[in-house]
Amino acid sequence: MHRSIVGFHQDLEQHWVAELDCGHCQHTRHEPPFFPRPWVITAAGRLEHIGQLLNCVLCDRQEIPDGYAPYRRTPLFSNDSIPKGLQSRHTTQKGVWGIIHVQSGHLQYRIHDPYHTQIILDRDCQGIVLPEVEHEVKPIDNVEFFVEFWKTPRSLIE
Ligand SMILES: [Zn+2]
Repeated sequence: MHRSIVGFHQDLEQHWVAELDCGHCQHTRHEPPFFPRPWVITAAGRLEHIGQLLNCVLCDRQEIPDGYAPYRRTPLFSNDSIPKGLQSRHTTQKGVWGIIHVQSGHLQYRIHDPYHTQIILDRDCQGIVLPEVEHEVKPIDNVEFFVEFWKTPRSLIE
């Protein structure tokens, strides 16, 4: 899916890497003639590309970004205590990932735009929640689950 560039850094070999708002990184090397990106060499060029969208395949693979850590979890919910908000379309904040842990029973997990998928979660199948992607859950039988939230330790300090 498309994610916005929020910053840049250089890797150990001095190649430029774009930092995306999902927490993933993507190389934006200047490699003529096939990948000419002369703009990445200059500070002004990089600044101009802040906010530009890149296709993030790591989001498509539901991989929680490197270096992320859990920082908060919800109480254990059962059928009569699931907040209404979780059962209709909602999202996490920018850069915040989640893992839905089902302890018992089965939970229907629907992911909306851009994925439009639906899976059944249980003890053996966790649900990955992507930042800013609308989703909702619905109990299928007697279910108990909690949600764990992950973000980069950098923003834990802020
Ligand atoms: Zn991503």
